[in-house]
Amino acid sequence: MSKSRSEGSWSVVDIKTVGVIGAGQMGSGIAHVVALGGYDVLLHDVSAERIDEGIALIERNMTRQVARGVIEHTAMQTAIARIKPAVELQTIGTTDLAIEAATENEETKKAIFKALQPHLGPNTLLASNTSSISITRLASATDRPGKFIGLHFMNPAPVMKLVEIIRGIATDADTYEIAVSFAQSLGKTTSNAEDFPAFIVNRMLMPMINEAIYTLYEGVGTVDAIDTAMRLGANHPMGPLELGDFIGLDTVLSIMNVLYEGLSDSKYRPCPLLVKYVEAGWLGRKSGRGFYDYRGDKPVPTR
Ligand code: NAD
Repeated sequence: MSKSRSEGSWSVVDIKTVGVIGAGQMGSGIAHVVALGGYDVLLHDVSAERIDEGIALIERNMTRQVARGVIEHTAMQTAIARIKPAVELQTIGTTDLAIEAATENEETKKAIFKALQPHLGPNTLLASNTSSISITRLASATDRPGKFIGLHFMNPAPVMKLVEIIRGIATDADTYEIAVSFAQSLGKTTSNAEDFPAFIVNRMLMPMINEAIYTLYEGVGTVDAIDTAMRLGANHPMGPLELGDFIGLDTVLSIMNVLYEGLSDSKYRPCPLLVKYVEAGWLGRKSGRGFYDYRGDKPVPTR
């Protein structure tokens, strides 16, 4: 960990600037924790508007943390000042570590890495925040599989303590050590997962949410009955349908498809009702409607 950049190898102390690609709920959450951790952040998305929305979300979330006494107001001001919009993807090439947090779609992610590659410095590390897609496959679409790793932050990134670390088959030991030190420098605890579909957390969490949707689909219970049952009967802080809405039903469906196809096991088949909600554009909180309607004062079950 003490090797310097000039010796051709990096340590976490060499990471000064972090690029975040995707300014949605995860990208903005990651930019938030990384900026509070003392790193300069360049935030990219498909348009200046999306980036501005991401920065506005970070400001709202940090303001809430200040009100709750989690962070000081001065820490918020310093962190906000560290986050700069990067309208052109190529600007991300100037960073020491680029974390991709775009939509959960393999082609989208590969296209981003391909477009970024000509602009990358030789030592820039690449990471993906994917919830389920093979790190080995994403890495193999780049010129630096040894410097590529899965850094899977949980939602909401500023609150959740875990970062799952996923090594691809070609990930270097140095890259792994830097990734662990980097996550720890943000106050996170890491857990290592091997590169199999959906890794550890989502291998278990997504089938549970999918099963809750089957429970609804088969009429075993209403939205309210299912969520109340799991909150009070299993002591979960959120019901599984509420959690699916929070994650984003498009993301839940993508992950179920990765499990279904990647493990070739019918037990992972996505519930047809989940598919229907996604086809309707009812993606959960982020689109205003999912298993609950969020457009009024308080969420109302949609079934
Ligand atoms: P989101 O829909 O909130 O945001 C995705 C963002 O990616 C959008 O702002 C979109 O405009 C942007 N994007 C799409 N294509 C792009 C491109 N070509 N270039 C730049 N930006 C692009 O989704 P999210 O929940 O933030 O998920 C992002 C990633 O994080 C996914 O890989 C997801 O699996 C993973 N993840 C999600 C959760 C969760 O609970 N939602 C948790 C952990 C990890």
